Amino acid sequence: MTPTVHRFPAEQEGVFVNAYLVETAAGVVAVDSLLTVSDSTAMRRGLERIGKPLRAVLVTHSHPDHYAGLAQLVAGDDVPIIAPQGVIDTIARDDAEKDAIVGPMFADEWPSRRIFPDTPIRDGESVTFDDARFTVIDLGPSESPHDSPWILGDDGKTVFLGDQIYDHRHCYLADGFHREWLANMQMLRERLPADAIFHIGHGGPVGGEMWDWQRGYIETFVAAVGEANWADAEQAKAAVISRMKEYEPTGELQFLMELSIEPVARQLGVLSVPG
Ligand SMILES: [Zn+2]
Repeated sequence: MTPTVHRFPAEQEGVFVNAYLVETAAGVVAVDSLLTVSDSTAMRRGLERIGKPLRAVLVTHSHPDHYAGLAQLVAGDDVPIIAPQGVIDTIARDDAEKDAIVGPMFADEWPSRRIFPDTPIRDGESVTFDDARFTVIDLGPSESPHDSPWILGDDGKTVFLGDQIYDHRHCYLADGFHREWLANMQMLRERLPADAIFHIGHGGPVGGEMWDWQRGYIETFVAAVGEANWADAEQAKAAVISRMKEYEPTGELQFLMELSIEPVARQLGVLSVPG
């Protein structure tokens, strides 16, 4: 059978993050987990409703909204959690800091026991479960400090893109790799078929028409931060927010963009206050 892609949560309203179950003839492969205890537990129930065994979890990048709920999703099953070594190392390195920052934001919904990817894979290598072949692209730093989209099948048309494209939502740029992100987008755009379908980490699915929106978002954000008058930091932040709301009027995930303003201002050298 052609693998079926189930998105979690299925409804988009008010949804923070998406993950996927790929159903094959005799099993299920998960792509990422969700952030909260409730959402990841609901995803586990979705797996149980499908009624086929979990074979593996594939991880698309190193941010906690995509790995924090792994323990709820896997629920003790003895399956590999697969990612490039760089993703594994980044999660192991940064998790304590994420626990300190993201934990209090989500309180009881932040999974207190977190498990990490445990099975490394190299760029361009594939794993096959039943008849479904997944091939990883090890991007290195991009939207997060280490990103790894997965291609399903041989025609390159079904891609789990992680957060390389946000679907008309505000974006997180605080890790400081916007140059790498833009270059990776250009590489992916040239490599993947024009009619590919992208299953992404926040919204979607989308197609190649969203590459331009995403590039424009990053370029507009970096320009807005660089051109703001940082003599008054609060006014500078407000100016960036208003320019980004002009570019993308939705309020969805706006806090991720707001969290990114000062780090990028420091990175660009327009804000010298240490932080
Ligand atoms: Zn994300």
